Amino acid sequence: MDFVRGLRCVFCGSHYRSRALCTCPRCGISGILDVLYDYPSVARSLTRRVLAGRREPGQWRYRELLPIGAGAKLPQLAVGGTPLTLAPALARHVGVGRLLLKDDGRNATGSLKDRASALGVVKARERRQKIIACASTGNAASSCAGMAASMGLRSVIFVPERAPEPKVTQLLIFGATVIRVGGSYEQAFQLCQQACERWGWYNRNCAINPYLVEGKKTVGLEIGEQMEWEPADWVAVSVGDGCTVAGVWKAFRELRQLGLIARTPRILGVQAAGAAPVTAAFQSGEAVRPLEPRTVADSIAVGVPRNWKKAVLAVRESGGTMINVSDDEILEAMRYTGRLAGIFAEPAAATAVAGLRRAVAEGVMRRRASAVAVITGNGLKDIQSARTAAGQPFEIAPDGAGLDDIVCRQELIPRPS
Ligand SMILES: *Cc1c(COP(=O)(O)O)cnc(C)c1O
Repeated sequence: MDFVRGLRCVFCGSHYRSRALCTCPRCGISGILDVLYDYPSVARSLTRRVLAGRREPGQWRYRELLPIGAGAKLPQLAVGGTPLTLAPALARHVGVGRLLLKDDGRNATGSLKDRASALGVVKARERRQKIIACASTGNAASSCAGMAASMGLRSVIFVPERAPEPKVTQLLIFGATVIRVGGSYEQAFQLCQQACERWGWYNRNCAINPYLVEGKKTVGLEIGEQMEWEPADWVAVSVGDGCTVAGVWKAFRELRQLGLIARTPRILGVQAAGAAPVTAAFQSGEAVRPLEPRTVADSIAVGVPRNWKKAVLAVRESGGTMINVSDDEILEAMRYTGRLAGIFAEPAAATAVAGLRRAVAEGVMRRRASAVAVITGNGLKDIQSARTAAGQPFEIAPDGAGLDDIVCRQELIPRPS
């Protein structure tokens, strides 16, 4: 038994009791569904006291708020339970009163996507499917392959021609069957959809699978609990397809509904200026317009976001806003987040920090505000961009010639105190 009451379309509002739907039958592929729960029952079972007594550190501690039955077999890999770290020097640089970083780069395969993929493999298993498939170049693919390996499932990953080599390698290490399609991401996506239909594989293409977002939601549930039920004024999240930001808001809305928190944070959704169709839709109030994405932040380089409506509604309901940052601001944020907080964020993750800085500069956010930035992926995932951001080391000969000069110029000689 679980606490799911049904599915609701975010476009037309239709309710469905069937669990097997992926999108709304009335609206078609754009009819993104939201999972509804029996909140009064959840509230009786999931109290502060019960949670304090639960030992499991990861995302399964919130199982009443997840679409999984009590007997579900879960992956062995640790998912969630990532650190929430105070970053006072970074707070001063960004211009807020208090800043915490939720380091989801510390998940099993190095990104927040593990939270969604973990649910994906549980659902695949529940339907007795032994093969899970996904089309992606990045974090969704590697997390899908890793979680599948952990569950003893096979995975088939369709990658576009230009998929970055480090990410393809991560897939191969996890034993995925990696199929490189000599074409675009959209073509890889279409082939994956067709293959799933033809061979009956479980489809982890997240944007349209309502259950996966429920996994992403757990990052917000953790922030609530880690802050002892007094969340910060703002939570900043980068936005690609829009599932993550929608999930984060859903977490806080549910925590309030359950009486676990009294006040919800405002959500700051941050996009890269060269791939910002969701911000445009948020500002215009109109439907999203597809575009050709251009940004260094590959994980949020989404030109046709499928979850934009959920994202826009979430940010609006939270009383928050959407903001764009340039690629230069993103690379700069990678640098100062590493230097001032010791956290190595990939470009799409540093985007959230860059967004906070811009929001303060533009007066959207008060200078004394408290904020959380969700670090959605680890910087080691994209070494190319990190090199661009961080520059090169000093080179010296083995005899040490030139070292004195560097030490001097870098002001590394301690003054007597
Ligand atoms: C996927 C991803 C995002 C954005 O999530 P969406 O659900 O696509 O909006 C942000 N950062 C990283 C590192 C990601 O992998």
